[in-house]
Amino acid sequence: MQTVENIKKIYIDSSIAEGKVVHSLLERVSADVRLEWVDDPREILEQYMHAGPVVNKTDLLVYRWPAKFLSSCPGSDGMVCCQYFVINFGIGCLFDCHYCYLQSFLNHPLMSIFGNLEDLFAELDERTRNRNFHFRIGTGEYTDSLALEPLTALSTHLVEYFAAHPNATLELKTKSSNVDTLLDLDHNGHTVVAWSLNPPEVIAAVEDGTANLDERLAAAARVQAAGYKLAFHLDPLIYFEGWEAAYHGLIDRIFSVLDPDRVAWISTGSFRYAPGLKEAIQARFPDDELTRAEMVAGPDGKQRYFKSIREQMFRSIKEKIESVDPALFLYLCMETRRMWDRVFGFVPSSGKNLDALFDQRRLHMEARRPTGRPQS
Ligand code: SF4
Repeated sequence: MQTVENIKKIYIDSSIAEGKVVHSLLERVSADVRLEWVDDPREILEQYMHAGPVVNKTDLLVYRWPAKFLSSCPGSDGMVCCQYFVINFGIGCLFDCHYCYLQSFLNHPLMSIFGNLEDLFAELDERTRNRNFHFRIGTGEYTDSLALEPLTALSTHLVEYFAAHPNATLELKTKSSNVDTLLDLDHNGHTVVAWSLNPPEVIAAVEDGTANLDERLAAAARVQAAGYKLAFHLDPLIYFEGWEAAYHGLIDRIFSVLDPDRVAWISTGSFRYAPGLKEAIQARFPDDELTRAEMVAGPDGKQRYFKSIREQMFRSIKEKIESVDPALFLYLCMETRRMWDRVFGFVPSSGKNLDALFDQRRLHMEARRPTGRPQS
């Protein structure tokens, strides 16, 4: 697995020198990493923009994010949306998945972390206070939630914040095995630790730098033992000869080591790409089969496998998961109403309707939660 040992240079915004993230980082950074304090992080960003599309993943900028941290998941036009919120605490990733949309989205190769968590918490207080709504808030839109955790310990601050907020659940989504910092936290049942999973041969072929399947599942078993809820994202599903046996084998492996009663949700979605990503993948990974499959543009302009293939894959995954435990909650990510109907026999009438299904699963788990740490 690509680790934080890969990082050789860190720029730190002087204006957040006293913040929690910089404090954690300075405690953990090894002596051979070059630190540079900067007064104007925009100069550093501009410098890297001119460097072009180099993907070295050795340099990191920690700076004060000047805008809002919280946004609604952008979803996709014409697709069923699950009313998810996203905290953006950084941009860029230590890992290098061949299908990653960041390749055509970012305009510079510098990984960055937003170090002004105090502003983030003030914004979260403002958005969630006195609301009769249960927020699900994730962190993995522009980066992997835990890839840099051994260096920044950023998620420890998030977990502790959410532990005190009963109407919000934090989701940390990762392809790493970096869970050491989470194990002793008093999370109060308000954090779900999630892994994006694919069969081992897919991980080896297209998820460069990530933890392998055994490492991810061993990490999941450790956080399960620490009382966290789990989630899994079988996304992107990759279509290849032998896909069905491979994905069924993956599901068998998950539940040979993990308890279905501790799994808050499972999502699945097919490999898809927006205009621009195909060219980026072909330029960086010319031998890949990923972009050679026949695909069709959806209402949101993204290319996906043909409907018949997606339906076959989703139905097969659903039936396999039901055979493990019919109470497990599976949903489709960025799929059409028609696909929902064909796979599940119903279409959520609105985001609120789908949100009610998440709440139903949450209440089901709370009713069956193991005795131990009190949770509210
Ligand atoms: S882990 Fe996520 S953010 Fe990182 S390279 Fe892979 S797809 Fe992109």
